Amino acid sequence: MLPDVLVVGGGVFGFTAALALRGRGHAVTLIERGPPPNPEASSTDISKIIRADYGADAEYTAWMEDALEGWRAWNDEAPLFHETGVTFATRGPMAEGSFELDSFRLLMSRGFPLERLHGRRSAAWGGTFDDGYFNPRGGWAPSGRVVAHLARRAIEAGVVVRDGSARAVLAEGGCVTGIETGAGRLPAGAVLVAAGAWSAKLVPALAPRSVWSVSP
Ligand SMILES: Cc1cc2nc3c(=O)[nH]c(=O)nc-3n(C[C@H](O)[C@H](O)[C@H](O)COP(=O)(O)OP(=O)(O)OC[C@H]3O[C@@H](n4cnc5c(N)ncnc54)[C@H](O)[C@@H]3O)c2cc1C
Repeated sequence: MLPDVLVVGGGVFGFTAALALRGRGHAVTLIERGPPPNPEASSTDISKIIRADYGADAEYTAWMEDALEGWRAWNDEAPLFHETGVTFATRGPMAEGSFELDSFRLLMSRGFPLERLHGRRSAAWGGTFDDGYFNPRGGWAPSGRVVAHLARRAIEAGVVVRDGSARAVLAEGGCVTGIETGAGRLPAGAVLVAAGAWSAKLVPALAPRSVWSVSP
């Protein structure tokens, strides 16, 4: 069956998008060039931080408030979110306009129970930090295991996961028609490129926008 959407890349963005599209009733195929979690993917790691602290960015912070609820709910099916809290520490006082002070002020205004660490220079921190704060709403997740879990959920939901590498996005008459792989062409109604740092290889128009490619 011709997929409505072909997702290129099985990192956290690719699998999350595939699951969301499948949940809306689309026929989705995802192509990933190695078994997920691929060790080359940015998403694959022992741990990654989950935080709502994003400086003065109120929109991103609001998204993360929703995401924190999602992570907590997700823990009922897969205990992957460790809500240990997160600490931001600075050398010297938190400065006007700094990421830390902007985050602190925005989160306080949104009711986060932050603990200011001002004047609590700690030997446990090697005496290097003088100021900062502790936010109990945040923590970490073993991100490689998160991707593995997403991959299982996607397959259970009916996403077709294929092993392979996209060489090019195909288009005819200004419309995307599928992708070219080493094993031939894969037609699709739409192509969603979620190839992380490699995205600009498939969508060269992204290259001037400071997308860094990594080897290989
Ligand atoms: C060192 C480091 C630390 C980070 N720490 C954090 C953190 O603590 N908290 C946080 O929220 N974020 C963190 N990030 C950012 C986060 O990891 C990334 O934003 C996120 O993982 C990107 O996911 P992605 O799905 O876009 O890309 P990726 O995870 O890189 O996935 C892209 C996938 O596409 C596949 N692919 C590429 N090209 C092709 C092709 N042609 N055909 C088929 N498949 C292809 C790759 O194999 C890969 O699996 C960190 C990033 C790094 C590098």
